[in-house]
Amino acid sequence: MINLKKEKNPMPEQDPIVRAGNFEEVAGGYTAEMAINEAMRCLKCRKKPCTKGCPVMVRIPEFVAKVAEGDFEEAYQIISGTNALPRICGRVCPQENQCEGFCVQGAHGEPVAIGRLERFVSDWHAAQEEEAAQAALDSIEKDDESLESLLDSDMVISNGRKVAVVGAGPAGLTCAGDLSAKGYEVTVFESLHKPGGVLAYGIPEFRLPKDIVAAEVSKLEKRGVKFVNNAVIGKSETVDELLEDGFEAVFVGTGAGLPSFMNIPGENLLGVCSANEYLTRINLMKGYLPEYDTPVQQAKRIAVVGGGNVAMDAARCAKRMGAEKVYIVYRRSMDEIPARAEEIHHAIEEGIDFQLLKNPVAVVGDENGYVTGLECVEMELGEPDASGRRRPVAKEGSNFVLDVDCVIMAIGTKLNKLILETTENLEANDRGGIGTDTGAATNRKGIFAGGDAVTGAATVILAMGAGKTAAASIDEYLGE
Ligand SMILES: Cc1cc2nc3c(=O)[nH]c(=O)nc-3n(C[C@H](O)[C@H](O)[C@H](O)COP(=O)(O)OP(=O)(O)OC[C@H]3O[C@@H](n4cnc5c(N)ncnc54)[C@H](O)[C@@H]3O)c2cc1C
Ligand code: SF4
Repeated sequence: MINLKKEKNPMPEQDPIVRAGNFEEVAGGYTAEMAINEAMRCLKCRKKPCTKGCPVMVRIPEFVAKVAEGDFEEAYQIISGTNALPRICGRVCPQENQCEGFCVQGAHGEPVAIGRLERFVSDWHAAQEEEAAQAALDSIEKDDESLESLLDSDMVISNGRKVAVVGAGPAGLTCAGDLSAKGYEVTVFESLHKPGGVLAYGIPEFRLPKDIVAAEVSKLEKRGVKFVNNAVIGKSETVDELLEDGFEAVFVGTGAGLPSFMNIPGENLLGVCSANEYLTRINLMKGYLPEYDTPVQQAKRIAVVGGGNVAMDAARCAKRMGAEKVYIVYRRSMDEIPARAEEIHHAIEEGIDFQLLKNPVAVVGDENGYVTGLECVEMELGEPDASGRRRPVAKEGSNFVLDVDCVIMAIGTKLNKLILETTENLEANDRGGIGTDTGAATNRKGIFAGGDAVTGAATVILAMGAGKTAAASIDEYLGE
């Protein structure tokens, strides 16, 4: 039976006023009944346009049909055949530009809520796994041997070959997962004190609960993947030294976490920071919890510059940290804004003030060096630029000052050159990232790379896709 409703079934959400004061997850997720009802909106299109819009080609109509039948386990098996981190992707993928952007239902109403269904199915599966593990723990005689065999049940027989993964973001975790499933002994080196990359330090708890990321890491650990945290490759040890130490191949998934600034006057004033630093202090270093000593900007009036996911996350965190007024300052209009539609919608609901078609020209400060305002100019849109978006042009004489005491820059990030500079003869691509072929192989034998470190800032699913490609190439290379 097909559900003829034109709109998506809504997800239960915290009230905007309540949630703007806490870091708990905003959306509650579908119940089984809601998921089945939503899945029945699918038209089972023969040409599967939604699957073509998915960077890892999840077999969407097939999994959605299983949800409609109430067979959630089979739906999970279909999704996880191509997507290693569905609980994460169901929450953070820009579905409106990917699968849902191609959904036929979208032509005369809202597309099928594919992301919400992916989230439901993978959360359901995780809950079953947790229950089963608890039941097994409760029922066994808790002698050491049976407990050990339960803990070891995910272990894969080793093929004795060692691979190093540098960077524990979605690219590195996916590569490590695929290689360990094939029997490789994988060690992941991560420069921060916790694995997860942007999933841990960037995306806030209210969008992606950190226990989901921790559960993915723990799955890999159970399978035998080793994690070495606080290891900055290129400083503590180089990629070449890893190869000399007995790793037969190295995957570099170090991301693109170096923040960009605008180079405008006043950017060195007290109260200006990058969104990456702000979010890292809040998320990874738990700056929002009173029992942690992490120092975080505590301003009352904040301007966040930029219109991407990073800007939305910083603005919504600022609200939750107690700011009374939070502006998003973006130089184009709502039609060009690059953040996920859901994050923009949530930010507006939470009272973030969008200053569109405005561009900062200077940060204003007092005699003690503290920020007192952000001078901006109004913009209008001209002809499309190289990115295809209409180029913003400043309106002469339209300058005005936003009254703020903190400015957070979220205008993009660049690649940190450390690996390129410390790995002998490793070539860059024309975007300044690590150069690779379509199989993620660099110009150096045994060295592979993928994710933001190659493409520049992109998306979780693309980074995972690159990690998958690299794992297949490494397997082929070492199998020769
Ligand atoms: C705040 C924020 C919000 C975002 N929101 C979304 C979203 O909603 N949806 C979406 O699809 N994408 C989003 N993105 C983009 C997405 O998170 C990235 O494209 C993705 O994480 C890239 O994955 P990666 O594995 O290539 O790199 P990263 O996730 O950056 O991971 C790289 C890891 O390598 C480590 N590392 C770096 N250098 C070294 C070194 N020398 N030695 C050892 N380790 C090193 C880093 O500490 C990091 O842990 C967001 C990004 C940010 C910053
Ligand atoms: S395009 Fe939309 S309606 Fe068609 S199969 Fe995919 S999810 Fe179902």
